[in-house]
Amino acid sequence: MEINVRKKLEKINIRGKIERNISMNLHTTFKTGGIADFFAIPEDYNDIILLLEFTREHSIPVFILGGGANILVSDKGIRGLIIDMQKISNFSFHNNTCTAEAGLSISDLAKSAADENLQGLDFIYGMPGTVGGAVWMNARCYDISISDVLMSVEYLDKNLDFKTLEFEDIQNNFAYKQSPFQNSSNIILSATFKLDKGNKNDIQKNMELHKQDRENKGHYKYPSAGSVFKNNRTFGKPTGIIIESLGLKGYSKGAAEIAEFHGNIIVNKGEARSEDIRDIIDYTKKLVYEKLGFNLEPEIQLIGDWEKI
Ligand SMILES: Cc1cc2nc3c(=O)[nH]c(=O)nc-3n(C[C@H](O)[C@H](O)[C@H](O)COP(=O)(O)OP(=O)(O)OC[C@H]3O[C@@H](n4cnc5c(N)ncnc54)[C@H](O)[C@@H]3O)c2cc1C
Repeated sequence: MEINVRKKLEKINIRGKIERNISMNLHTTFKTGGIADFFAIPEDYNDIILLLEFTREHSIPVFILGGGANILVSDKGIRGLIIDMQKISNFSFHNNTCTAEAGLSISDLAKSAADENLQGLDFIYGMPGTVGGAVWMNARCYDISISDVLMSVEYLDKNLDFKTLEFEDIQNNFAYKQSPFQNSSNIILSATFKLDKGNKNDIQKNMELHKQDRENKGHYKYPSAGSVFKNNRTFGKPTGIIIESLGLKGYSKGAAEIAEFHGNIIVNKGEARSEDIRDIIDYTKKLVYEKLGFNLEPEIQLIGDWEKI
């Protein structure tokens, strides 16, 4: 990026902030990843639009960051601009629905819904990440996908126009760990969820059970990004069991390791590099294919400057 463009980018007049050379290991749940050239934290939609207008005009690549809970950022970092959605986090309730902006923690939203005696998001309590990330990934746990409770999604399309994905589009275009946002540059601004009236105490009890279950399984013990590969019904078994059956639990490279508690989770046990994690992913994929013929599909997104490693 030319020096004068860099200077102009730093000076875009947004309410939020723009910083340079930010280490992504502070912004990923793996606690790995190199430097991002520019890192913006917009305060409102107008900030986002100003940033996008500039980056489009100057052909600067943009990455939208939620909670960083499903990404593996290259040790070489990310060129261009990261837009961190953390401050875009208002939410409101109306009858049995709630609308939440993309940067809000999905787990915090579940908690607030329970406070309003609304059930339907309790299944996702304890899962790291934001509303936007959960919609983008169509996050799923305890046999429920986020699309099962979604009513509509407001987003910015490639022309920077405000658009809404309605209920029928959601029914037709979301599938297991798939959303239409994965094949587009559209930016999720907010999502509306359809919930049911319930009893606050019962909902909170249910949420605690889910969180406890994650704790018992070891989810929060070491930095990770949850499941590395998708499950695939045609394989007949969950991916974690398939990986475990090849004796790969505990397999390590540097400080990265396939968790002893779950074959489909890679943990960072210290100062792991993203490259170590990537090597384990590639090795696992290769071995599972060679030994069992299953072609594992990664769930984790590889972000940044990977080719040059
Ligand atoms: C301990 C642990 C347990 C986990 N358990 C589960 C689980 O049970 N089920 C499950 O499905 N996942 C699980 N995960 C993975 C992760 O929590 C989910 O995938 C989550 O939805 C990621 O959200 P995020 O905000 O962190 O997204 P990020 O990792 O920040 O981003 C993921 C992708 O979404 C895109 N994105 C994010 N926000 C927007 C936006 N506003 N507009 C456009 N694109 C956007 C990003 O560009 C990126 O491509 C787990 C992770 C951890 C660390």
